[in-house]
This record gives sequence, C-alpha cells and structure tokens, in this order.
Amino acid sequence: MSNFLVIIKNPKSRAEESYFNRYIHIEKMTNLYRILPEEMDDIVTSLGQPRYRADQLLHGLYHESPRTIENIHQIPSVMKNALVTAGYTIGYENEVHRVVSKDGHTTKLLLEFDEKTMIETVLMQYNPSPEKIHPRSTVCVSTQVGCPMGCIFCATGQMGFEKNLKAEEIVLQVLHFARLLRQRDEHVTNLVFMGMGEPLANYDETIRAIKILTHPRAFGLGQRSITISTVGIIPAIDRLADEYIQVKLAISLHAPNNELRKKLVPTAGPHSVEDLISAAKRYFKKTGRRVTFEYALIEGINDSNAIASELAQLLKGNGAHVNLIPMNPTAGEFSRPSRKRVLAFQYILRDGGVNCTVRVEKGSEISAACGQLRTDMVQKTI
Ligand code: SF4
Repeated sequence: MSNFLVIIKNPKSRAEESYFNRYIHIEKMTNLYRILPEEMDDIVTSLGQPRYRADQLLHGLYHESPRTIENIHQIPSVMKNALVTAGYTIGYENEVHRVVSKDGHTTKLLLEFDEKTMIETVLMQYNPSPEKIHPRSTVCVSTQVGCPMGCIFCATGQMGFEKNLKAEEIVLQVLHFARLLRQRDEHVTNLVFMGMGEPLANYDETIRAIKILTHPRAFGLGQRSITISTVGIIPAIDRLADEYIQVKLAISLHAPNNELRKKLVPTAGPHSVEDLISAAKRYFKKTGRRVTFEYALIEGINDSNAIASELAQLLKGNGAHVNLIPMNPTAGEFSRPSRKRVLAFQYILRDGGVNCTVRVEKGSEISAACGQLRTDMVQKTI
C-alpha cells in the first residue's frame, strides 16, 4: 500500500467528508508492480473481466513499461477505468541523475520514487560487442534507503538506515534499465542484490520482488540469474533455503575471525563466523547450491598473508568459493591493496585448497562507494 497522508481524520462537514473520502481512496491505492500474477488473476476477475485479461495486463506492464494505466494498450478502456476506480496505480520512478563510465559499460542512476525515497541502482555490462551479440547486462539492485548493518568501509552503511523499499520500488529499478536497454535491442540478463541495503533485512518485500521479476507471466528472468548478497542474517538465510527459489546466495564475510569481523561489520552481533559457515552449509545441503563468500580486501586491515592463511584454514574442505573484492579506492579512510597484494592473498587461499576469484572491476571511476552518489545529491539539494 502507498503511504499517502490522510489529511482529515474526523470529517465534520459534508465538504470535509468528501475530501476525507478522496484521501481514504488514495490511501488505498495499490501499485500493480507489487502484484504477483496469481493475485492479478483474482483482481481482474473481481473487476468482472475474463482471466485472460490478466495476461494482457501483465504483458503490458512488463514488456512495454507504461507510465500510466491509460498507456497499457492491451486492455480495453472499461478495464482501465475499473482498475483506476478500484484504487490501482502503476506509480513510477523518476530518474534524478545518471552517470556513465568512460567505456560506457557501467551506468549508475539515482532514482526517486517519492520525495523521501531516493536510491541508487547500477547497470553493469560485460562483453558488449560491436557485432550486436547481446552483452551480459546485470542490474545491481537496492533494497533499502541506507542500511542498518553499518559496515565501516561502506558509504551506505555510514548513512544510517532510513527505510525499507517496497517490492514495487525494487521491481521498478529493473524495469527502468529494461526500458533503457530495449531502446538498443538489449535486455536485462542478471540481477545482483548488492546495492544499497541488506536484502535479507527487508525479506518479505525482496522475495516478493524476486517472485515477480522471475515469474514467467511477469518479467520472466531466470531465477539462477539472480544473486542475493547478505552480510549474514542467519534466520533469514535458513528461511531463504526453504523458499525453493533457485537464486544464488553470497555471504559477505570480510574476516576469518570474530574479533576482526565485528570491527568491520559492527552489527555482526550474535552471529559468529562459525555460525555463518554453518548456515552456508545448511543452505547448500537444502538447496544444492554452493554459497559464495564475498571478501572486501582493505589495505592494512584484512589483507595480510597471516589473515589469508587463517581464512584458508577456516574454509578449506567446504567446497567454498571466495570472491575477493579489492576495496573501492575512493571509500573514505580505507584504501585498496596493491594488485600484487591482492594476487598474493588469492594465491594463499588457492594454495590452501580454497576456490578463489577476484571480482572484475566495473566503472570504478563513477561508482565511488555504494551510497556515495545518493549522499552527494542529497547534500547538494539541502
Ligand atoms: S556493505 Fe552492504 S550490508 Fe554493509 S552497510 Fe553497506 S550496504 Fe549495508
């Protein structure tokens, strides 16, 4: 439900009552981009329309990206009117700012859903070719405004937490890029939930958005093309394993022991490194999908040979995969280790029997730290 303000709580006059009814009506507006296809069937039939109209509506929503219900060409006017009268909307995102990397492969957007909801979302393209072979086009999605986890090396974490995004606000980030890509005959191929926020701290809305984005009657993206990255909310990891959604899971570890991890991720709280490894094992056992451990490499903090050996010791024999992410060079007081240091760290892990890759760097000159663009824009408008 949209959070519209009800201005008059207890109407006294007829004029006030009419005003009240209007706002009560608006308060009940529901964005169609948060509706699952099964729910859409019920809505359409409850409006006296045949069920096949739900498919026409879904096709219009996800393959044409209309800005208003009136712009959906597949459905008749009588149905459009019925949807509007019943309080449905397709509300949309406003692109406030766009930055594109020099090579054109990375695009970072600042999107606004309402005055108080501004988030970043990023498109990363791999292997674009002049021969028109479709590139892999990955959208890095945000799930919260700010983040409650407070990782000390992350600009989003330093913003603090403002609020959870609604499912439709997650869906619309993807549709915004889908619309841009469609103009050049390309499409979104992958999603990573690694933007602003901790997706598992906004569990219900994140999972609803994923179900919509992967439903063959809606956006239709393959579930295996999606990665959820979490800093490690263990009850939510166990819950995700029970969803039987074929998404990949990445756990941000950043340290091989509790003392160092609590310094980097202050909210790690009751969940120890050992608890996280156990949760990853349970997830693998239940889903058959191996978990990736993300490790942000920060110069002089967690990048020494001794720490690499400790990490190898912790993870060996688990079939674990580690993805090393050299710290973004512009993130405050922390620095990225040299290439030589990164490779030495990787060598020790591999030598210790741990599968390990270094993340391919995309658009570092525009991305700064996650959350930076939004913070800069908010400061400029104050
Ligand atoms: S790294 Fe991720 S989990 Fe940590 S504060 Fe930043 S957005 Fe939140």
